[in-house]
Amino acid sequence: MNRILLAEDEPRIAAFVKKGLEANGFTVEVASHPKTILDMAFSEQFDLMLLDLGLPSKDGLTILEELRGQGMNLSIIILTARDDIKDKVAGLEGGADDYVTKPFRFEELLARIRLRLRNNLNNFTPVPMKLQSGNIVLDLRSRQVYLDHQLIELSNTEFMLLEIFISHKGQVMTRQQLLDHVWGYSYDPGSNIVDVYIGYLRKKLGKNIIATVRGIGYRWIDSELI
Ligand code: CA
Repeated sequence: MNRILLAEDEPRIAAFVKKGLEANGFTVEVASHPKTILDMAFSEQFDLMLLDLGLPSKDGLTILEELRGQGMNLSIIILTARDDIKDKVAGLEGGADDYVTKPFRFEELLARIRLRLRNNLNNFTPVPMKLQSGNIVLDLRSRQVYLDHQLIELSNTEFMLLEIFISHKGQVMTRQQLLDHVWGYSYDPGSNIVDVYIGYLRKKLGKNIIATVRGIGYRWIDSELI
């Protein structure tokens, strides 16, 4: 199991990221104060750190500098609302491994974390490169989808939605779960966006691939299980 140190002072974002990562099998420790973050990073064993830049009393870039300055080789992904190019360059030059700008979609963050963990030489956890359901194949590395070996054009959102369904074959997914996973915390809860995108997937991949579970949500129909 992979342990992640989440250095984030915004409770809503911390709770959202923690919940999502735990649902995907990670162990997450949250720290919001720079001193706690440094103490935990040096005294405990983590596989990766998500580091917010706007932290109270000490800038995330300074924390990064202190960690790297003391020889800490933990994988670090910067997570921040600052989309200024200077901060990105400073973060990467300061020894961050990657950079995700808020608002982000949870699935994008998850993909970046998995990619980083795969690249860690000391990490042997196998991560699937392909997902398959009947005649539909998702290549997780190239983010491409094939139906009967034919490449199907999907938007990033459609791909993420499809990935969620195929990784939860047979399970009923509620609208809320789909919103959380694919749209993150930046959606309008009253919108029918999930239903609209289910419509797109049915149109592109077959109208019987996803069943509507009245009043609850949707379920992927795996042809191998029929
Ligand atoms: Ca912050």
